[in-house]
Amino acid sequence: PRGVVVIGAGQGGLDTAAALRARGYRGRITLVGDEPVLPYQRPPLSKGFLTGDTSGADLELRPRAFFAAQDIDLVSGTRAARIDRERRTVLLETGATLPYDSLVLATGARPRTLPVPGAGSLSGVLTLRGLADAEGLRKRLTGPPRRLVVVGAGFIGLEVAATARKLGHEVTVVEAQSRALARALTPAMSSRLVAEHLGAGVRVLLGREVTALWGSAAGRVEVVELDGAERVAADLVVVGIGVLPNTELASLAELQVGDGIVVDAHLRTDDPDVYALGDCARFPSPHAGRHIRLESVQNASDQAKVVAAGICGDRVPYTAVPWFWSEQYGLRLQIAGLTAGHDETVTTGDPDGGRFSVFCFRRGRLTGVESVNRPADHGIARRLLASGTELTADEVRQPGFDLKTHAR
Ligand code: FAD
Repeated sequence: PRGVVVIGAGQGGLDTAAALRARGYRGRITLVGDEPVLPYQRPPLSKGFLTGDTSGADLELRPRAFFAAQDIDLVSGTRAARIDRERRTVLLETGATLPYDSLVLATGARPRTLPVPGAGSLSGVLTLRGLADAEGLRKRLTGPPRRLVVVGAGFIGLEVAATARKLGHEVTVVEAQSRALARALTPAMSSRLVAEHLGAGVRVLLGREVTALWGSAAGRVEVVELDGAERVAADLVVVGIGVLPNTELASLAELQVGDGIVVDAHLRTDDPDVYALGDCARFPSPHAGRHIRLESVQNASDQAKVVAAGICGDRVPYTAVPWFWSEQYGLRLQIAGLTAGHDETVTTGDPDGGRFSVFCFRRGRLTGVESVNRPADHGIARRLLASGTELTADEVRQPGFDLKTHAR
């Protein structure tokens, strides 16, 4: 037997290898990652790691000894260059060839770059995906106060803005859409988050487009140009305008690709020996009723279990309820389910006091709950969504409504 090769040693790749062993898989497991470090968590990179509260060692998902103990062959700092599906081998950029029975693509995603003049050539213009990016940003943010412009009011942009503000920098967030986190959050939640940023002294410019970056003679960014007119001074620009899934290997191998590597309910590509999961995979979601791609730790981790099961011959579909979290200032935001596409919302709790939940319904059915500093709501919502328990907007609107009474 040739064993399993996993390409990508991030959250999903590592969890697949670990889940295979946890299920008793005895074959060879090779985990190939192009980053020169042990697999690590990304979420702190835009939060505690930037302030120094979280160290590099704290980020490690498993200690080095785990890989030896579990007999997982970790090949770090090496890219997989090509897949030969006929021979069932993976060619590494080092020239080595790895044979496989099952192949797992867990290649993640990379930041989109800003398509405007200056963005590709000036120094001081950063994106944030990996540890190396975060180390570069941390070095700049732990120095003297700077004028930081964050392009994109998504989760990463807003988390970086919050962290930088805490560290005393002057922060401007520029977002092309008319509201923050338009794809991910309800209007009620995005305006509450923006209010928090404004209260902390962040300048938030919505519906404004960055049209160019200008720099010094030495090639350092100095100015962010908005809508071809206004100029905002900047010593540092962080671009957080979304990601592109890493699908090139799959495309080269002629697997089906389209904003992600297309997989079925068992996370198999159109080649039954090849699976894809995590940020790079486009899968049929029973919660969305269509194919989607999710970028979250939960999704990568839960999909890893489904892939490991499939490889071990236990074909379970991926049906886990999506969940996600973010931290900005003292607000811990948690999302259960999918809130996009809702047609009705009900807010409970105290938004101004920073403890509240937004219940989202589509055609009378609960599809997701966003909560801030209400972990009990989040936990119960996840269970309700998983069990398909009915909860109507009218019930939530009742005075004295308490989600706990629906906990079972
Ligand atoms: P990744 O973790 O990106 O791993 C993919 C790995 O594959 C990478 O190491 C990549 O370099 C490697 N790779 C790619 N191509 C090759 C190749 N050809 N050969 C070898 N290796 C290759 N999620 C949350 O749920 N909550 C959060 O608060 C949160 N915060 C985040 C903050 C930041 C700054 C970032 C960047 C992400 C955050 N996320 C958060 C998202 C979460 O980290 C991702 O969804 C998760 O890491 C996805 O796991 P993955 O295995 O699919 O991809």
